[in-house]
Amino acid sequence: MIRTPPSTIASIYKYSHILSTPIIFAHSQHQFLAARLARSSVHYFTSKSIKPTTPIRNMATISSAIPISLEKTDAVYQKDGTLITHETTLSSLTPLSSFPEDVRGLFKAVSGGEKGEAEPWVVTVASTIFHAQGGGQPSDTGVIRLLKGEDGGNNDEGFTVHQVRKLPSTSTILHLVTPLSSSSTSSPNFLQTAKLHQSIDAEKRTLHSRLHTAGHALGLAISMLSQSGTLPSDLQDGKASHYPSTAFVEFTATAGGLIMSSHKDAIQAKVDELVAADYPVGIEVLSRAEAGARCIGGVDGADVGEEEGVRVVDLGGLGCYACGGTHVGKLGEIGRVVVRNIKRQKGVSKVGYDVV
Ligand SMILES: [Zn+2]
Repeated sequence: MIRTPPSTIASIYKYSHILSTPIIFAHSQHQFLAARLARSSVHYFTSKSIKPTTPIRNMATISSAIPISLEKTDAVYQKDGTLITHETTLSSLTPLSSFPEDVRGLFKAVSGGEKGEAEPWVVTVASTIFHAQGGGQPSDTGVIRLLKGEDGGNNDEGFTVHQVRKLPSTSTILHLVTPLSSSSTSSPNFLQTAKLHQSIDAEKRTLHSRLHTAGHALGLAISMLSQSGTLPSDLQDGKASHYPSTAFVEFTATAGGLIMSSHKDAIQAKVDELVAADYPVGIEVLSRAEAGARCIGGVDGADVGEEEGVRVVDLGGLGCYACGGTHVGKLGEIGRVVVRNIKRQKGVSKVGYDVV
């Protein structure tokens, strides 16, 4: 491997004549990193020194450093929602541009930030603590760093994780990343290991878990009020979203029952009561039949890992929901659930809420 990258196209030409094997060239540190992980002989040129269209003999652009692995990813966040760091192994590292359109379409466009030219890549791993967007909960963000070996050292090589999605067909979790601005390409241990260290934005995760659990607490409060006769008895759980500032739970009704704005105080009082009681939030895995019988809202559409059973979140034994998201350990950790507003459209009642 030639350590000093040629800085001009003329010198690249020279190398391409000398070497009998094709030169792989990288346009970014990220590509360089990827190719080194794949144990390729790779030469890093700055984007100023070479253009993708430059016709140079014996050269090939990296299209897929480590081809995408569509193994099921172990979703560690579903087993322990409190982990904010985790060690795992790399499965694949692939440019987003090499995926088919339907996969690319799962992601929003990434703004370049301070590295406007950074090309987004997709990392897959054996196991992850990054929550994949779904079930009304946004994905986690954070950092994946490359571990340099047993003796540690500065993990300054790695990626910023912008978005996380799950491929429904294979349950493969895709992390959309760009290189850390501090990435260097000089790690001697880099070729010997593909071990990764994950860290998520803990503050954001905590907010997401509080909002998500608040959605369940609010849904349970409404369900209990429906059973006790304060609210219409035909209400059924509908869609829910637990995004900051826009969180809501929706209810349909078999006989046209609606939640009115006049019900707001009763709902607020009931959810306050549940939170004040600080009920534990438990996670169980049940058979599909048992989950279907016990869960409020049923099990359809829940992202819950079918082979091992249906993942269920239980609120103090008062009610449970099929759910693949992250939660706080006790309802008191939510803080306060504030019923923001109640709207009705086409027979659907929508209750907006916040946590404070
Ligand atoms: Zn949940």
